[in-house]
Amino acid sequence: MSAPFRDQAIHALQDEQLRENFRGAMDFLQGKRKAVFSDTIELENLRQQGHQIKAEALANLPELLEQLDSQCSKNGIQVHWAETPEQACEIIHGIIEQNNGKLAVKGKSMVSEEIGLNHYLEARGIECLESDMGEYIVQLAQETPSHIIMPAIHKSKSQIATLFNATIPDTPYTENVDELIGTGRRILREKFQKADIGISGVNFAVAETGTLCLVENEGNGRMCTTVPPVHIAITGIEKVIPRLSDLPPLLSLLTRSATGQLITTYFNLISSPRKPDEKDGPEAVHLVLLDNGRSRMYQHPELRETLRCIRCGACMNHCPVYTRIGGHAYGTVYPGPIGQVVMPQINGLDQQGEMTEGCSLNGACGEVCPVEIPLPDLIRKLREERVQPQPAESPVNGAGSHRTRVEATAWRFWRWVYQHPELYRIVTWWATRLGSMLPNRLGPWTRTRVKPVIARQSLHEIMRERSNQPD
Ligand code: SF4
Repeated sequence: MSAPFRDQAIHALQDEQLRENFRGAMDFLQGKRKAVFSDTIELENLRQQGHQIKAEALANLPELLEQLDSQCSKNGIQVHWAETPEQACEIIHGIIEQNNGKLAVKGKSMVSEEIGLNHYLEARGIECLESDMGEYIVQLAQETPSHIIMPAIHKSKSQIATLFNATIPDTPYTENVDELIGTGRRILREKFQKADIGISGVNFAVAETGTLCLVENEGNGRMCTTVPPVHIAITGIEKVIPRLSDLPPLLSLLTRSATGQLITTYFNLISSPRKPDEKDGPEAVHLVLLDNGRSRMYQHPELRETLRCIRCGACMNHCPVYTRIGGHAYGTVYPGPIGQVVMPQINGLDQQGEMTEGCSLNGACGEVCPVEIPLPDLIRKLREERVQPQPAESPVNGAGSHRTRVEATAWRFWRWVYQHPELYRIVTWWATRLGSMLPNRLGPWTRTRVKPVIARQSLHEIMRERSNQPD
């Protein structure tokens, strides 16, 4: 288990190189997004459209999933359902074994990170090589992605050059980006030719046609889904959308929000395995649909909004906390604002509720989210559930785990004072007079903050004085 979020955040803040890497990358991404969404009216219209499509998809999620299953099956795509990460790993391992697979090449897939697929397969003797350049770098470094779109964004050019030099035989140290990419490409191309299995994620799964949509910039996604004889796609159940005509607005929102691009270099629509008259493509395509706590999120009308996410990463790029501490400090697969909402719901507030505190509720994430997810409201809701007095009634696992008797008593007292105006006036009168006597250190509250300065007069007193003054 990783160290507490607070400790990791403090550690990250002390790493000057990391802060420089993130600051530069986040400024760049914020600038690109701003430039590509220069027409704010168009942006707001598009966001509303994205919101509506995803809201409609969620409103009909069970039916759409059944339709997707049936359309995919008609197209020859074999659909598998996994409730837990273990089940998903077992299913994928089973498919690989049936095909005597020994080497799998994988396109970028955060769901595969969520289920710990690489470790699972490696422990069973199957080599699983990341083919996205960022993922390849973090795999070489034996790290995890620090961003959901740009996994190696925490690394500088010189750090990557050192890594390649140290881990890839016969690779001289170079900071020339073309040469570094060339090295990765040479190794990956060789693996693509030998791979028995290609694994990919899915950006959107179209129920109407049984089509899997995958966007990417490097061509590795297309190689993974067309070169090896078997393609396994894995995705969360929330990625289903009703119609093919829903794709253009969602894609436009996704690529512009993620990397500031009007469209990505590669845009793959996979609707079946290779047909007899086709020259390329896999002989078999499998789709693994993962639940992993998503059905539970779906039950609650407010928390369900989490499932609208299209994983663009914009909320991270604009979060003042994420941009300073980076993704690894969260110690979770999904970091930043969306991670603060997803991870505690998947793994429980008792396990990962602390990360909800790494938020100033400034609202930037909610403002940039292309599908209008009210992230600050959801973070606040999860904080509330963390101190929930009736855990059994909570929609989230591990609710009430952060409730302390002292805090609960203090808030009960405050509620009682608040409900009695006379008492409220007496307490605030004393608080304004005695506030300056408060010690400078107030336990954990002042560990990272200065002591609040209490006004010398209460608001009631100030207003009374003003109303007595002549105009
Ligand atoms: S919550 Fe919104 S901004 Fe964040 S990754 Fe998801 S879609 Fe993008």
